[in-house]
Amino acid sequence: MLQYPNLEQALKYHFGYDRFRPGQRQIIEDALQNRDLLIVMPTGGGKSLCFQLPALIKKGLTVVVSPLIALMQDQVEGLRNNNIAATFLNSSLNAYKVRSREEAILSGKVRLLYVAPERLLSERFLPFLDLVKEKIGIAAFAIDEAHCVSEWGHDFRPEYRQMKSLRKRYPDVPTLALTATATDRVRADIIQQLGLKQPSIHIASFNRQNLYYEVRSKTKSAYAELLELVRETEGSAIIYCLTRKKVDELTFKLQNDKISALSYHAGLSDEERSSNQTRFIRDDVRVMVATIAFGMGINKPDVRLVIHFDLPRNLESYYQESGRAGRDSEPSRCTLFFSFSDIKTIEWSINQKTDPQEQLIAKQQLRQVIDYAEGTVCRRTIQLGYFGERFPGNCGNCDNCRHPKPMQDWTIEAMKFLSCVARCKERFGMLHIIDVLRGAKSQKIAQNEHDQLSTYGIGKDKSVDEWRMLGRSLLHQGLLEQTSDGYSVLKLNAHSWEVMRRQRTVSLVVPVAQKVTWEEGSEKAVEAEILMQRLRSLRKQLADEQSVPPYVVFQDSTLKLMAQVQPTTLTEFGKLSGVGSHKLSQYGDKFLAEIRAYRQEKGLIDPPQVSFTPSVSLPSDTEIFTLQLHKQGLSVNEIAQKRNIRPTTIIRHLTDLIEKNQPVDLNQLVSLEHQRKIWQVLEVLGDISLTPIREQLGESYSFDEIRLVRGKWRRENRK
Ligand code: ADP
Ligand code: ZN
Repeated sequence: MLQYPNLEQALKYHFGYDRFRPGQRQIIEDALQNRDLLIVMPTGGGKSLCFQLPALIKKGLTVVVSPLIALMQDQVEGLRNNNIAATFLNSSLNAYKVRSREEAILSGKVRLLYVAPERLLSERFLPFLDLVKEKIGIAAFAIDEAHCVSEWGHDFRPEYRQMKSLRKRYPDVPTLALTATATDRVRADIIQQLGLKQPSIHIASFNRQNLYYEVRSKTKSAYAELLELVRETEGSAIIYCLTRKKVDELTFKLQNDKISALSYHAGLSDEERSSNQTRFIRDDVRVMVATIAFGMGINKPDVRLVIHFDLPRNLESYYQESGRAGRDSEPSRCTLFFSFSDIKTIEWSINQKTDPQEQLIAKQQLRQVIDYAEGTVCRRTIQLGYFGERFPGNCGNCDNCRHPKPMQDWTIEAMKFLSCVARCKERFGMLHIIDVLRGAKSQKIAQNEHDQLSTYGIGKDKSVDEWRMLGRSLLHQGLLEQTSDGYSVLKLNAHSWEVMRRQRTVSLVVPVAQKVTWEEGSEKAVEAEILMQRLRSLRKQLADEQSVPPYVVFQDSTLKLMAQVQPTTLTEFGKLSGVGSHKLSQYGDKFLAEIRAYRQEKGLIDPPQVSFTPSVSLPSDTEIFTLQLHKQGLSVNEIAQKRNIRPTTIIRHLTDLIEKNQPVDLNQLVSLEHQRKIWQVLEVLGDISLTPIREQLGESYSFDEIRLVRGKWRRENRK
């Protein structure tokens, strides 16, 4: 086992983070003790780190089983950007690439291998794994999305079932199972199906503190509100709609309003879907309008807004879907638009179900969604209660806690409404009752002579929406009934009569117009925002050069810190959370230059700086000396002689100089043909040690040549 002074230092060195998230440290300690683990954490809780950091500390290869190719690529890209040797094997690779990756693994330099379950258990792969175990050892199996093993989960995959045979084959290799969804039943199933041995079980709270939850009524101005929300949001947004048609319509409207938006639904071709998805992940497009088909397996950590423009199917889906916001723990917003006509649509489709049991469950789930939407207590209390977690309320980060809605006494109106139901002989639905109250002139009213009733026209002072709000609330409070035969005829009950006899009062939560902005911007914050924009575009540019999503370069939280702290030296820069040793040398100078340029333009006193702090990416004095001799045209051996140091040291200087973007003439050191070949192999194998690269190339290539070219590759082509 490699020795680190402590785990925090390892965390900072490899990932750039200052501290562990809740639970991570304990889990990592358990993993280092080779214990089996079951880890249940909400989305964005930081599960991956729980096996990634131990993988870097322990001996041997950590094998990560992951169900989706997109997820694998994503994680490997992220790791490589922290200079961590990770690779994946899946069906997207040709035989040649598979072979060379396998060789790289056997050479012992790969720390993390991502594989799909079907490959893992294939005839060809298991013997390879035996070889790995024998030659370099297997540190652990990490089973991601472990709920896929359970038929009780929502995402069952039969391939996961065979994983138990891994246990039999390698009984002494510890196994970690990770998931974001797990009811008791799924949990037990995971432990049993994967054959975990006395696992240490970690269940994190499902409270996502950084998410602001709110519910708005879907009135006529809903689209305008949505547009405002999207415009106000700095960063990516997902908008969920129920049907493809609605998705396409909304996308069209947004595009018309100059919002960069794309659609995602099952009606698009595979290519269109995947291209739209990539554009969203890379921040080429800001808003994704989608059916719930979108989101599974998307790891984008910086989604700042998730809007449900239609009702979700149940609270669990709502939690998961809205939870795609703010995985990076930065403040993000989840907005649900709620309308009574949506409920009607869903009720209708529930009534189409033939299985009475299914119908019952669906109705129950709808009821829970309505309770959430109409609830006046803390949204978290309702949501977490659904997962069996008690939450005391007063979260300070939901609409009900931030803007408690005033209650009003609507007893008189309720009496009018209920007596109108009585006079219409309990034979009509809500809309007709409202028409009568408002004195409408419809055919139905004339036919039934309802314009003769004493309640006709006594409610002109209130709008249709207001009456409807009252009607819904009476139903909700159990002061009125509604038939479920598809006609929704209003019926009175004992409580209704109590209201009419003035034995009971009726209070109503009255919605107040909501202000969209939820963060006040001080002048300083605005300033930081301007710099933030510049840093964002630099990040985008660097990401595009490498064809990776921008968050792989730096996450939003790190950019924010840069904008606030405005570091001027590499040392200061390296202290920011999210800047590890590798990213410091890779990007530090570029971001510092951007910050410096900004400060100069703002007239902030900041003399053109040469940093004299010892740092990873500025050349040292001895390197500069070597560079000078190199520029005079001296060969490596000549420089070595002159300086009286070994040629390999000179090569090392030159390599580092290349990596630090200093003017070393590589053509003078390595023939063009050799450069080209080495480059090709690096493209395939990635940034690994020299031996496997040399094995690919053959004896005629020297380690020095490879080292030098790898320096350039690192500088220019990191993925
Ligand atoms: P999960 O798989 O649980 O949804 P991830 O492992 O993708 O979550 O982590 C979510 C985000 O949090 C990632 O962007 C990750 O880099 C970040 N993260 C993880 N651990 C930490 C930490 N200790 N400090 C800061 N950020 C972290
Ligand atoms: Zn709250």
